[in-house]
Amino acid sequence: MCQCNQLPNVFLGNDESHPFDDTLEELEWAPQRWATLNRCPECGQLWHIDIAKQNDIGVCAKIPSREVWHQLDTTNLKVQLMVQNRGGLSDDTCQWKQCEEKCVKGLAFCPSHAYFEMDIKQ
Ligand SMILES: [Zn+2]
Ligand SMILES: [Zn+2]
Repeated sequence: MCQCNQLPNVFLGNDESHPFDDTLEELEWAPQRWATLNRCPECGQLWHIDIAKQNDIGVCAKIPSREVWHQLDTTNLKVQLMVQNRGGLSDDTCQWKQCEEKCVKGLAFCPSHAYFEMDIKQ
């Protein structure tokens, strides 16, 4: 059995370091985006996997469809990963002026304000 179900939606990894043991089929290779699209032959789950890059964390992420992958902004995956690392969202509202988004747990800001404005990357 494959382990796709047990893996989180997004986690750290790249094409040289991931938990799939070469079981995935590579569908697309997009070096200009540092991205690969892969499919699990057992359950059909699509996976985005970053191409390994120096001084940058890579991400692996579940992808709902090929079309979504073509428009994928991997920065958003890193934002999701930061939120996931911190345990998700809280019920507080972001302190940023006029922002109504929920805060990341333990922070006073929503995911995008924490990541892009406060430079909280992990
Ligand atoms: Zn699978
Ligand atoms: Zn905000």
